[in-house]
Amino acid sequence: MTQASRKVAIVTGASRGIGAVIARQLAAQGFAVAINYASSASEASALVVELRQAGHQAIAIKADVANAADVARMFDEIELQLGKVDVLVNNAGILKVLPLAEHSDELYEQTFAINTRGTFNTLREAAKRMNDDGRIVNFSSSTVGLNMPGYAVYIASKAAVESFTHVFAKELRGRRITVNAVAPGPVATELFLQGKSEEQIQTFARMPPLERLGQPEDIAEIVSFLVSPAVGWVNGQVLRANGGLV
Ligand code: NAP
Repeated sequence: MTQASRKVAIVTGASRGIGAVIARQLAAQGFAVAINYASSASEASALVVELRQAGHQAIAIKADVANAADVARMFDEIELQLGKVDVLVNNAGILKVLPLAEHSDELYEQTFAINTRGTFNTLREAAKRMNDDGRIVNFSSSTVGLNMPGYAVYIASKAAVESFTHVFAKELRGRRITVNAVAPGPVATELFLQGKSEEQIQTFARMPPLERLGQPEDIAEIVSFLVSPAVGWVNGQVLRANGGLV
């Protein structure tokens, strides 16, 4: 595929976890992929090397999605190196499980800065700079439907992302850009596993009728579906992917 015909995808938070698998999947689908990360530089560059060795086009870009200037610079760099963006996957996110009453101001602000403002920052930039006929996939969480204790601030940060998804899909009228969100249940990544005992992990794994944790590949397949050119009629939706948990 020539550089001019290759469509360009950004995956935020693609150095590890679900985002890294999405980046691999989109590269295999023929996208030139921009791998965004905040601090895991060596993981991001290893992924770039892996994708390039497989014949794909990929770059790594350090940018804190919570910082509007970083996000604008990220779009500048991508346009310069790969071209205008066709697909935006807003995957970067953090989770700290703690009762609402025990949240510090700093933790509240950090969660909303990355999960909510981070998504806002890239959406605002995308509105100005994405090609028409594009695809945007935001990341919510099935915890929005579960309302489990300890998840209040995280859930609130993701519920806002679901609202962005519904409204932004309408605000892009006329551009033929779809805006959807994926809301995974528990997926076996550092974000979910960190700080949980084996027993807690097994309890989560038994919850859905499919009786296992999600794998990053389960979620990457859905993103791949939502960004494919043939899937242009799903718009403004939140797709929960959790093995039937909620
Ligand atoms: P993860 O394994 O912890 O990976 C998170 C990724 O986000 C990393 O690449 C990290 O990069 C990046 N990131 C964090 N803060 C960032 C920032 N300020 N700017 C740019 N990148 C940043 O998490 P994951 O499980 O793959 O989660 C991916 C998404 O799925 C998140 O939005 C999460 O809320 C959602 N989700 C996950 C689960 C689950 O069970 N795993 C369930 C529901 C929803 P650095 O290392 O470079 O900081």
